[in-house]
Amino acid sequence: MYQLNEKLIKLSPYDPIEGNFKIRLDANESPYNLPDDLKKEITNRITQLNINRYPDPMAKSVVEAFAKYYNINPDCVTAGNGSDELISIIENCFLQKGDKILSLSNDFSMYRFYAQLSELENVVLQKEGDLSINVDKIISACNADKSIKAMIFSNPCNPTSLGITANEVKKLIKSVNCLVIVDEAYMDFWNESILNCVEEFDNLIILKTCSKAIGAAGIRLGFAIAGKTITNAIRAAKSPYNTDSISQLIGTVLFEEQNWLKTANAQIIENTKALYQGICKICIETNNTVLKTPQKPCTNFVFIQSDFCNEIFDKLSKKSIAIRNFGTYLRICSGTETENNILITALNEICHEIYSAGGAC
Ligand SMILES: *Cc1c(COP(=O)(O)O)cnc(C)c1O
Repeated sequence: MYQLNEKLIKLSPYDPIEGNFKIRLDANESPYNLPDDLKKEITNRITQLNINRYPDPMAKSVVEAFAKYYNINPDCVTAGNGSDELISIIENCFLQKGDKILSLSNDFSMYRFYAQLSELENVVLQKEGDLSINVDKIISACNADKSIKAMIFSNPCNPTSLGITANEVKKLIKSVNCLVIVDEAYMDFWNESILNCVEEFDNLIILKTCSKAIGAAGIRLGFAIAGKTITNAIRAAKSPYNTDSISQLIGTVLFEEQNWLKTANAQIIENTKALYQGICKICIETNNTVLKTPQKPCTNFVFIQSDFCNEIFDKLSKKSIAIRNFGTYLRICSGTETENNILITALNEICHEIYSAGGAC
């Protein structure tokens, strides 16, 4: 009888959340669908596509539009089928079986997942008690072990919502010999990107995605940005037609439409601020016993410590609001203003209920 190997046998398909929810604040997506005129533009351009032909393997037009939007050199950019695909390609190809890769905890879970599939050894460095990143500790850990061939982290971080400054990131890259992969999936909500210094380093890859600030999780499009040697290697290692013509086309329209992106982005930042303040107010009113006052986020979501995660998660689910439950933390993504108000009202009610029941003595 055929037996799955050890690394596959324990896996199950990714299942983000079950059920239909009226309000989805669990996956850090943009709450804003594209405006009608943009959709129309996309529809028009799709009509002209030669669907019978393979897509452009180098995704030239979207790579150029992306590079222009972020004011970087298109020769440093490779498109991928979501940054997930790029994480998988990079970990699989820039490291070899048995090599070590350093990641941080808490951080994006996919880094370790793909490393395991590629038969790498995960070395995990715990963040500080306040979830901050100590760059000196990362540098020491990388330099203490020659078999650590890469380190990867998100900045700002999913799920902690916190970030380190561009100067700290640059210090880290300069101080280690291994490859450093900086996932800037949420950097559009903050202002400490190192994108425009990517060519200064020969051991750096930056990842970006269309799934969060760009508001296009549905098209599966991400980018790896690196110096030319590394870029050529990624382009050579990826499967030739990794991004399809429709994603390339939609991505191109989006990045060319800077006004829409910038307006939506500013609105999300504002909504997140209001969401954060709303949550802080609940924390204070319940004496920080149900939820602990969170740190100010650099992202489009808030990360909150609580001893009542399961209870709060279940009660919000019953009200058809989906958030992400980490057991000792909750992650709540900012929705539209209306969605955030509904969430705050519901959360306020639930927390006061727990508080007055004396559940939080
Ligand atoms: C959401 C997320 C991604 C996912 O990117 P895709 O392009 O949708 O695959 C990558 N990194 C981090 C840190 C994320 O939170």
